[in-house]
Amino acid sequence: MTLNSTKRVSLSPAQINDQLQVILNRTAAAENYQLEKETVNTFNLITHIAQSLPRDENGLSNYYLLFNAWIRWLSDWNNYSLNLMHRRRLIGHLNRQFGTGNYTLQIYPYAGRLYYFKYNLTKPQIQMHEALDYLSDSECGLLVQYLKRQRWNELKCLIGNYQEQNPHWKELSLYFQQTKANPSHENRTRGRYYDLEDVFNTCNKRNFGGKMTRPKVLYWSAKVNHSTMGSYNVNEDVLMVNRGLDRPDVPAYVLDFIMYHELLHKALGIKTSGARRMAHTKEFRELEKEHPDYERAQSFIQKNAKRL
Ligand SMILES: [Zn+2]
Repeated sequence: MTLNSTKRVSLSPAQINDQLQVILNRTAAAENYQLEKETVNTFNLITHIAQSLPRDENGLSNYYLLFNAWIRWLSDWNNYSLNLMHRRRLIGHLNRQFGTGNYTLQIYPYAGRLYYFKYNLTKPQIQMHEALDYLSDSECGLLVQYLKRQRWNELKCLIGNYQEQNPHWKELSLYFQQTKANPSHENRTRGRYYDLEDVFNTCNKRNFGGKMTRPKVLYWSAKVNHSTMGSYNVNEDVLMVNRGLDRPDVPAYVLDFIMYHELLHKALGIKTSGARRMAHTKEFRELEKEHPDYERAQSFIQKNAKRL
């Protein structure tokens, strides 16, 4: 996709989102899916909107990159079908609980939230992250029931279980997180106690015979993260390590193991099987176990994940 910067119309993020929702809701409402035709129409429109997105002085804005990632994600046939199926399921349950048209629903890869729900005057307003697309029909049914009854704890549990048990959601939410522009990444290799440059070099020598090329970007996350120790973005060649591990009481072998895990993603890539993006294949898990400190690193992470 090319951006025509001379002939662009600036739309506010809210306007863009409104337009997209119109497009996607219309698509979802189309009888018999008509996927093929609708997909073409939808993507022409989305592409058109993307071309008129504002750019900031540093080049591409975070909003643009997130949006762009979303288009790339939706332009895959399986992902788009998944999005539609999820939307249909939700709409079915929402219609039953709230009545047709008595709510607003937006599905989008929001930057900072997974879901959001409020009573806007009398009309409930529901926003859900694209990474919740893998919720099953029964999970969607429960979710809507909890929304209706405002059972926030149960809702939190449901989403928590999904996050823990669904193998795809994490890859997907990381995919969206990592597409954000972050010029300061370059300067975030050096932590307070550990320098990721050293962690990479040691890990490379120790586990890859010095043959692994350094990821384009290597950085400590801005915030401590309690569920993700590290991540690797295949498309961008960006490797992130959770800042919570930059502590004197975190042994070097733990960092070596995290680095090894993420570099394995770099070495193996992501396999696609139907609608599923497979990052942790059988092959991956076997190679992972070859790390010399596999057992103790795993047990350290399990014991300390909440404390980091
Ligand atoms: Zn992984």
